[in-house]
Amino acid sequence: MNIIILSRGPSLYSTKRLVEAAEKKGHQVRVVDSLRCYMNISSNKPSLHYKGEDIKDFDAVIPRIGASVTFYGTAVLRQLEMMGVFPLNESVAVTRSRDKLRSLQLLSRKGIGMPVTGFANSPDDIPDLIKMVGGAPLVIKLLEGTQGIGVVLAETKKAAESVIEAFLGLNANIMVQEYIKEAGGADIRCLVVGGKVVAAMKRQAKEGEFRSNLHRGGSATLVKLTPTERKTAIRAAQIMGLNVAGVDLLRAERGPVVMEVNSSPGLEGIEKATGKDVAGLIIEFIENNAKPHKTRTRGKG
Ligand code: ADP
Ligand code: MG
Repeated sequence: MNIIILSRGPSLYSTKRLVEAAEKKGHQVRVVDSLRCYMNISSNKPSLHYKGEDIKDFDAVIPRIGASVTFYGTAVLRQLEMMGVFPLNESVAVTRSRDKLRSLQLLSRKGIGMPVTGFANSPDDIPDLIKMVGGAPLVIKLLEGTQGIGVVLAETKKAAESVIEAFLGLNANIMVQEYIKEAGGADIRCLVVGGKVVAAMKRQAKEGEFRSNLHRGGSATLVKLTPTERKTAIRAAQIMGLNVAGVDLLRAERGPVVMEVNSSPGLEGIEKATGKDVAGLIIEFIENNAKPHKTRTRGKG
């Protein structure tokens, strides 16, 4: 097969591993920076140009679209879908997963457990918003943050009010969330591929930190999931419409709660913590599923 990987960095661990896994199975792979792709969107024969070259004849595309290039990257992915290329994750699902609020609303509609979460726009509504999510301590999140940046723990009502006020004053979109204290600074990353959890790790925040992101100094270890956790992760990926997803759970007293669903999960942490060949499993999924024009979004936007 001819596989295209949309990625800004051919030297990134995840990209390198996907290239390696695809080549090992005898496929042709090309890594392309989506920001250097351009296209004529009015043409009735959709095509894609890359650094002066008309690139075509791909069977499948693996989007590894960074949060900072979501808008342009998903437009390029959409163009490939219009050209009939099978997307590992389709553009609408990627866009959906990038908005934490939208994702949680979709999951809540289907009865997936999550931290009590609130959303407001006007500073006048802050006191009631805080009451609504159960009071302090609580977590305040920028809707489009990643890697733990923009996630704040407010220990008291006063602190919560000030932080929310400051964010709203900067016109930032935020949500306010119940703090799952019993998770003890740990979360569970479940790597879902094609409706199965193929690897799972527990990430523990470093001393004095509540955010378990590896980018924030967290450490990863192998973890055994309960059947409920496994089921929750698989359902969350399915509701988001993602074939490949990193589903993050917190172990709350009332059971697993979903914190977020990532459409371009990093492979380094999870492969190293679990020893699993996740890249190989992703390529296998493509082998078993890629057929021309196989995306529900084709022509629908
Ligand atoms: P990001 O997209 O920046 O990774 P997350 O929503 O995943 O943002 O939050 C970062 C980390 O903060 C999580 O991995 C988790 O360890 C911690 N965290 C986030 N929300 C909560 C919460 N409601 N209760 C307890 N810990 C939380
Ligand atoms: Mg996270």
